[in-house]
Amino acid sequence: MSENFLLSLNDSQKNAAQHIDGALLILAGAGSGKTKTITTRLAYLISIGIDPASILTLTFTNKAATEMRERAFSLIDSSIVHTPPLLCTFHKFGLLLLKFYMSELGRKNNFIIIDTDDKKRILRSIDKELPLPLLASEISKYKNSILSPNEAKATAQLKLYQEIADVYEKYENYLEKNNLVDFDDLLLLPYKILCNNEKLAEEISQKYNYIMVDEYQDTNELQYKLLRKLCATHNNLCVVGDDDQSIYGWRGATIKNILNFTDHFENTKVVKLEENYRSTNTILNHANQLIEHNRDRLGKKLVSTREDGNSVRVYESHDENEETRKIVDDIKNLISNGERASEMAILFRVNALSRSLEEGFNKSGVAYKLVGGMKFYERAEIKDLIAYFRILTNNNDNFSLKRIVNKPKRGIGKTTIEKLDAKSAQTQKPIFQLVEELEPEELAQVVGKKNSRTLKVFMASIMDLKEALEESKMRFLDLFEDTFDYRSSYDNAPDGFDRQANIDEFYGYIRDYFIQNPHLGLEDFLNEIALESENSEFTEEMVSMMSIHASKGLEYKHLFIIGLEEGFFPIIGDGSDIEEERRLGYVALTRAMDNLTLSFVHSRFYKGKRASLTKSRFLSESGLIKGCLTLEKNSAYKKGDLVKHKIFGMGRVQKAVKAGKEYKLTINFAGQIRDILSSFVEKI
Ligand code: ATP
Ligand code: MG
Repeated sequence: MSENFLLSLNDSQKNAAQHIDGALLILAGAGSGKTKTITTRLAYLISIGIDPASILTLTFTNKAATEMRERAFSLIDSSIVHTPPLLCTFHKFGLLLLKFYMSELGRKNNFIIIDTDDKKRILRSIDKELPLPLLASEISKYKNSILSPNEAKATAQLKLYQEIADVYEKYENYLEKNNLVDFDDLLLLPYKILCNNEKLAEEISQKYNYIMVDEYQDTNELQYKLLRKLCATHNNLCVVGDDDQSIYGWRGATIKNILNFTDHFENTKVVKLEENYRSTNTILNHANQLIEHNRDRLGKKLVSTREDGNSVRVYESHDENEETRKIVDDIKNLISNGERASEMAILFRVNALSRSLEEGFNKSGVAYKLVGGMKFYERAEIKDLIAYFRILTNNNDNFSLKRIVNKPKRGIGKTTIEKLDAKSAQTQKPIFQLVEELEPEELAQVVGKKNSRTLKVFMASIMDLKEALEESKMRFLDLFEDTFDYRSSYDNAPDGFDRQANIDEFYGYIRDYFIQNPHLGLEDFLNEIALESENSEFTEEMVSMMSIHASKGLEYKHLFIIGLEEGFFPIIGDGSDIEEERRLGYVALTRAMDNLTLSFVHSRFYKGKRASLTKSRFLSESGLIKGCLTLEKNSAYKKGDLVKHKIFGMGRVQKAVKAGKEYKLTINFAGQIRDILSSFVEKI
């Protein structure tokens, strides 16, 4: 069979792709063809007659799995592949094992997977006091470190941790009793099965005789142990990774897995790839400059194979609206010049930043998709708020009423809603009208006394709000926030930070809307956003928007990264890790192939108010500030200005003389006077 596909690889890549038996570690920087190499290796193994069913390839996201499958299959003659090789995420693979072997744990295989919301609800029902985010993450940590509830109890010293371990035990019992599995169980339970039954472990290891893992830097302890079990009979494990792209530390991923790989697996062959094929030389240089600020790294060489290309652009804007406008304009221009929307992407570190982007795109009619996330108006918390506003404009909207009558919780359960529904059908009256017209006693006959009272209070609040709305839209919004205090219902939720940010974003947006359009009403607002969310028809040609985490492994010809402000990127403060933030920066910059634009603003509407922001340190660390086009207007220098130089540090300008586009500066750096051109310093 022809192996022409090997011709598109360089020598090191070819060497790795043709490696057959034994452990193999491909350690290389971004865009050096790691994924291409293992995809080709998959095709190569099949082309030399290895049973496709015996090859297992594991990735971290479904998107990565799909892309790899497409790439690999385009290389091989599909007629010879009877059973396609298994190529999926770690969790999907865990699920498959559980479907087959759950009985090994004395459990049935008709289990149900619970999501974060379910997990939260179960934990809350077990314990009313402990903070949910802490509970959820500690339990997840226990599971990923393979600690049973008893072991967790034994190691807990502080009272708080003893309590958490108690909840952990009850939680596990609950899951087992109801045959539920959480996300962590998809890895942990298969591992337990393999530990408990040696013979089965051997059989499974023999079945998957060749195992490959992309993005190995993001595996955690449990994934490593699972892999060890799977490779126990053959040691045929091939992993690829980049320590500079390790971005899941917060989820327990450990860089040690890469660092210790050669100790973990005998006779490992190590291949390094040192050429980057993805990005222009200019883009790669900035990415390299940025990551060099990290101390904790192996330090790899990575040189571009491409020309210099265009310089990286930095956009400076007053606020998010201006930022969006610039990007939308750019994208429209690119499209009208024949560029494909599917080759463009916009990345952000914090999810809530997508809202103003989405709004701009909806208005412009440029189709977009939000990868790995829900579109803003499809998010539960936003749908809830919209449902509230709908009720206020149209009392007869039963659907919306049912959605929010118990949000935040008022003790109105499902049965009560069913009873109201039935009565509404029977009397042909909308629920709202029913509740309004019936006397409290009559209503109590339908739903009970307590619920009757609650419903009456709820309706009265709605009526008050309607009145306020007629008087003043701003007063109405204040009252609305106070009356229902919907926001604080997410105070202790594990994903509360993101949800509250979305809620604030939404409140901010509606306030802005009324300021801009004082003569329009709440209905107009609702109609507008209904249209916005319907606007984007399905087409393959869509601009992608996503978090940097979701962009791992992907590449785009035209890339925009927004929100380069301190606090947004990098996230700073409690629990944040600046080196991990910088690795995220490196991942983000290295997604770009030809054109890269970074953007920062002076202020953003966030958490209910407009915040003043300073530009991200990553801009100067990657050597971008001096190349910044739109900053020029602000870069006039005068005596007394404080500036920073990459090597000489902080200094004060003593003299500034205009010289062409720049200034010739005489700067006092801690007593040392130097003459420096303005493009080499950053104004503070
Ligand atoms: P990341 O670290 O971002 O996951 P990676 O190392 O997996 O990157 P790939 O996605 O495999 O890199 O490759 C990056 C780009 O370079 C792809 O467009 C790929 O087709 C191209 N490429 C890789 N190797 C070669 C080569 N030898 N010749 C030409 N192009 C190549
Ligand atoms: Mg890759």
